[in-house]
Amino acid sequence: MALILVYNNAMNRMERYYREEWQPMPYNVGGTLKVREFRGASKSNILWTDRRAMNSWNTFRRFWGSPIFVGYAFKRIWEGGHSSQSQHYAGTAFDLGQTLTATQRTRLRTAATNSGAWSYVEPAYLTPRWVHVDDRFGTPACSIGGFPALSIGSKGVYVLILQDALNALGYTIGLDGIYGRNTSYAVRNFQRAQGLAVLGNVNCATWVRLTTLANGIG
Ligand SMILES: [Zn+2]
Repeated sequence: MALILVYNNAMNRMERYYREEWQPMPYNVGGTLKVREFRGASKSNILWTDRRAMNSWNTFRRFWGSPIFVGYAFKRIWEGGHSSQSQHYAGTAFDLGQTLTATQRTRLRTAATNSGAWSYVEPAYLTPRWVHVDDRFGTPACSIGGFPALSIGSKGVYVLILQDALNALGYTIGLDGIYGRNTSYAVRNFQRAQGLAVLGNVNCATWVRLTTLANGIG
């Protein structure tokens, strides 16, 4: 049984679901994406994603028309295994088609682009053994890409990454995906301890420091 936190983009609210490993993910249509597929190698009892990413999966799965092997999707940042500002930590990225032949995988990658479902399809030269697709939300805080800037009132999967990383580094706060006073307080403490500008909101410099420190330490 996993607790699944879902940011409902359309309603701008966080939702909570309890699901067994064999059950479909919230907002999944037709049982095409099970909890165990979404979690991949993650051992976490809490998972998260957003409604937009689930809709992108539904669109792509319908476009492809048959089952798609999911190798990895969600990971918590302290579990590591991906780059420090990977969309896998947001629960909005999928690594697909590891069991396919190279020819079939090329077809899957082309379909991922043609479906229009994803905001990013990784080129084959970067991930030749699987197809990485993701659904990014907002403008990245850093020009090199990554996670969006956050401040009081922000909600969603990136706030969950922020809270999760702060917790992993000893700044104990709740994991609810809502950037309130407690989160802002923890961010200030982190910024002060790190010699960063004490803003209480999360800009590029704070994301880089935080995600570099928290990535893979679990
Ligand atoms: Zn990936």
